[in-house]
Order: sequence, then C-alpha cells, then structure tokens
Amino acid sequence: MTPDRASPRARSALIGVLALQGDFAEHLASLRACGVDGPDGAGIDVIEVRTLDQLDAVDGLIIPGGESTTIARLLIAFDLMEPLRTRIRGGLPVWGTCAGAILLANEVTNLDRPSIAAMDITIERNAFGRQIDSFEEDLQISGIEGPPLHAVFIRAPVITRTGPGVEVLGRLADGRIVAARQGRLLATAFHPELTADRRMHALFARIVLEQMLEQQRAGTVDGGVHLR
Ligand code: GLN
Repeated sequence: MTPDRASPRARSALIGVLALQGDFAEHLASLRACGVDGPDGAGIDVIEVRTLDQLDAVDGLIIPGGESTTIARLLIAFDLMEPLRTRIRGGLPVWGTCAGAILLANEVTNLDRPSIAAMDITIERNAFGRQIDSFEEDLQISGIEGPPLHAVFIRAPVITRTGPGVEVLGRLADGRIVAARQGRLLATAFHPELTADRRMHALFARIVLEQMLEQQRAGTVDGGVHLR
C-alpha cells in the first residue's frame, strides 16, 4: 500500500487501459460510459497506462486489441512485462480483448515471443484465416443479463483449451470458445469497446470494485468502496 492510496473516505477504483498500441481510446470511452459507481461518489476513474508508476497505481487493467506481437514487444521495451506479471500474481484484475486475450493466455499458437502467460487457456491467433477477416455475431455471455451481446470479431483468435479453473463465458454458434474467465482475469476474442453496449465493461468494473473490497477486508488497501 502506498500512502497516497490510503483514504479514510470512499475512493474510486482506478482502471487503466494499456496504451502502448491498439484501440485503447475506445476502451477508455466505454469505461467512462459504463455507469458503474458506488453510492457515495466512489465509482471508477480511468487512465492510460504506459509507465511503471501508472501500472502501480491501477486497481484493474484492460489490455486492448491491436497486434499481440507488437504489444508484447513494447511491454518488454517499456520494462512493463515482469511488473505486470507480478501484479497479476498479486491479484490485479485484468481483461484482455482480442490481442489482449492472446497476451493473457498461457499457450499461444503462432506468437513469436513469450506472452504475459497468466490464464490457463490455449488460444489460436488469427483463427478465422484470411477469408474471414472480420465478422459480427450475437452472443449469449454468462454473467451478462438481458439480450445477447453484439460481438465484433477482427482477425480474431479462438480459445482452444480451458484449464480446470477457467469458466467458459461465451461461444460462437458453432461452439468455439470466445470468452472465458479465470478468477479476476477475463479474456474475450471480440471487441466490446467497438459497440455502444457497455455491459462487458460494467462486468469488468464490478470485478475490479469487488477485488478492492476484498483487499480492504484483508487490510491491504484503505478507503471504502461500496457497490450498488
Ligand atoms: N490478429 C491480431 C493478433 O494476433 C489480433 C487482432 C485484434 O486485436 N483485433 O495480435
């Protein structure tokens, strides 16, 4: 715990979006609009993450879509790879979309360098080949209430194996896995930040707020966060 994170009052959760490459701006906008707050002003704040200080400050992190090889290279070049692995081991909630999901996977087919390797899944890059570069499909996602989620896939991967601690959250109509959760880690092969539907961002924001509450109960973070 750093002194400036301690507060006697409720404090907002700080959710970062890794902003080295890819569509981080859309994630920031979706987070700001996702409508998750606490009752006495403790809601969520968002920041772009490019430095170690920014990574240290966040309570949750989104790794956006883009090019997984490039993001992996930049994580190493910016000296963020090992610190990020350490924070994830310490309980940091992380959500990877598309390239971000690739980077979270323990095993990746066709990645020319090590991933962050935090989730017990195998993922296949560019699983839809060149003929189908992008497509859209309505998906039922467990944990998301209401109508199916309209999902946008762009040179998307597919999750080909999930370990015993991993919950499958969503599949394509043909059964292939495109969303999974392992504790505080989320992986989606599609791009919720490219639609006006904020329900996936709200789901992640709630995971972050719950984790903050848990850490406060365990005495590792100060400040009172409240969930609606
Ligand atoms: N095909 C890209 C990769 O392998 C991912 C595409 C995306 O993030 N939309 O990194």
